Amino acid sequence: MRADEDGSGVRRCWADLVGLVLPVTCGGCEALDVALCDDCASRLLGRPARCEQGAGRLDRLDGRGPLPVWATTPYTGPVRELVVAWKDRGRADLTPALEAAAMRAGRALGPELGPALDVLPRAPGSRGRPTLLVVPAPSTRAARRRRGEDLVGRLARAVASGLTVAGVPAGARACLGRRGGGRDQVGLSGRARGRNLAGQVTARGVPGALAGVPVLLVDDVLTTGATFAACEDALLDAGAAVLAGWALAATPPPGRSSEAIGRPDAAGLA
Ligand SMILES: [Zn+2]
Repeated sequence: MRADEDGSGVRRCWADLVGLVLPVTCGGCEALDVALCDDCASRLLGRPARCEQGAGRLDRLDGRGPLPVWATTPYTGPVRELVVAWKDRGRADLTPALEAAAMRAGRALGPELGPALDVLPRAPGSRGRPTLLVVPAPSTRAARRRRGEDLVGRLARAVASGLTVAGVPAGARACLGRRGGGRDQVGLSGRARGRNLAGQVTARGVPGALAGVPVLLVDDVLTTGATFAACEDALLDAGAAVLAGWALAATPPPGRSSEAIGRPDAAGLA
């Protein structure tokens, strides 16, 4: 078969032509001719570190302390640029690198979350570890329409794959939804995020289906924790056991170095 019989030659020419008009640049730092440069890619390779202390909204104010949350990298500099490019500038070519980071996080979190599954009450007649449900934080319908798909759902599926590789039975399901009326969280202050989300996140699906189900929440960015707190409330109302959260990137708390999040040797998994 000739090179262009299947249309690949035509597609290649078209890509070259588009490349002349719109050069590919790194999603993080705008370096030319590469979708993600080595330096920006290396920022996604860190081991997840605990970061809930920097997200005040995660405090459940009931004496139990905040929901344990891990993040892979600080939401600063090029990471911030590449997450915004991925979510809001249509840079779907960054998805594989972000999914790879999510899968690595799932593998790293396996040994942390596996023992927590072992001590959960078992459903009558069930054997072995229960399956950990990986739940993406829901985006607004408008954001999903704009992005063409549920990008955080892609991260959740990759985390579930990583957990499974680490020996923790896991599956991803988008079982949370956003009621109409709330805005996308992008650009809102911490206080406004809390107000925007109050009562907006709800569990979907068959009533009772989440009773006793262990959950890991997943989002792309952790800032104040308002999103995870609203998700946790909705899941607890549905009877689920919310064990922890993971975000690709977390805003470093004011006055704290960002270095504690995402260093390859980060000791935050204790
Ligand atoms: Zn770069």
